[in-house]
Amino acid sequence: MIRTFTILAALIYSLTVAAESLSPEEQEMADWIDAHADDAIALLKETVDIPSGSLNKVGVRAVGDVMRRELESVGLDTEWIEMPGEMNRAGHVFGRKDGSGKKFMLIGHLDTVFEIENGSRPFASDGEIATGHGVYDMKAGNVIIVYALKALQEIGALGDIPLMVAYTGDEEKSGRPLSISRKEFIEAGKWADIALGFEEAMYFDDTDWATTSRRSSSRWVLTVEGKQSHSSNIFNEETGAGAIFEAARILDAFYDEVRGEEHLTFNAGTIQGGTEVDYDPGKNRGTSFGKTNVVPRKVIVHGGMRTISQEQLERARSAMTAIVAENHPHTTASITFADSYPPMSPTEGNLALQRELSAINVALGRDPMPALDPSKRGAADISYVAPHTDALAGLGGIGGGGHTPDEYIELSSIPLAIKRAAILIHRLSQQSTTD
Ligand SMILES: [Zn+2]
Repeated sequence: MIRTFTILAALIYSLTVAAESLSPEEQEMADWIDAHADDAIALLKETVDIPSGSLNKVGVRAVGDVMRRELESVGLDTEWIEMPGEMNRAGHVFGRKDGSGKKFMLIGHLDTVFEIENGSRPFASDGEIATGHGVYDMKAGNVIIVYALKALQEIGALGDIPLMVAYTGDEEKSGRPLSISRKEFIEAGKWADIALGFEEAMYFDDTDWATTSRRSSSRWVLTVEGKQSHSSNIFNEETGAGAIFEAARILDAFYDEVRGEEHLTFNAGTIQGGTEVDYDPGKNRGTSFGKTNVVPRKVIVHGGMRTISQEQLERARSAMTAIVAENHPHTTASITFADSYPPMSPTEGNLALQRELSAINVALGRDPMPALDPSKRGAADISYVAPHTDALAGLGGIGGGGHTPDEYIELSSIPLAIKRAAILIHRLSQQSTTD
């Protein structure tokens, strides 16, 4: 009885939401992808074997040139987006194609966290698992984009789809200022109707997870000033509380009054306090000097914050600012906020993409893909465009050990990810545009 109901419910769901079986041309793409999985893995090996730490401009350029060759093979116009010399980054590879209907932005990155000093770790495979620097984060994702486009081309479905492939060259260590290093990237996001990120897919608890949201990541610096004096004068009318008690009051109030909203976290990462304080937020490093018998003059606290939405970020910032303004006697305090990644909020548009992807996963013989808890993964380049377009991330391969020398990918997840991406783009491109 329950089973009958479940099947019925699934049937109604599939009729009303998205097809949970493959059409003949989707099956044709899937078969082509299976037949060419080895070619995709060969391309992965070719790019993993080129070391490309974010600061290794020659290596990033070399990986970018391989990806340009591949994008051009499916008819995209490609270019290097150059960065100013003082930024010390290789730039980005963009590939474009005109068309009509929904506009897609597909996102990868050419660089890895591993610089030359981290030693070399070329591609190695036992037929099931492959290892090597960047094999998982995210040279596999770059390859998945190319092979999804090839599969679409194979069945004649790539034809009219407007596309922008953006391979950034500095995802792991973004060039500053972001207003320059992410300028064209954000413009592409404004152009696109749908942005798809091909970083590693999430698979745990026997479940494939869809990444519909990621929290913002930003930083704050709290500076507190007090009146330096002999410690015997502390708390008296002329001296007041000193900078360290005031900093403690502020942090404690952050803990009591700002903490608690779902998906909001903030962290005090480092603190310097005393009579002489020096801190460089860019280097996360500082020094302090003080004496137990001197009321401290200064405190600097450097912290981070993550939020699920811009509204939550602003709410938290104004609550913190109000606390900072209260002040114990003879102290002053100020807080500054620096943006890094904006939030990728779980919008209705993103959840619609998740439902499409989930149906495709079922059509491919796997289970539905629920939306991942946004606390379970960090921010990424797709966050910069998420405020401007529907977005879905985590469309890459399955593996682990990202940002460690032991990173690996399950090779069978590569054709799976290519199929998901090709079918997703195909289905979405057949839907009418809303604007
Ligand atoms: Zn990474």
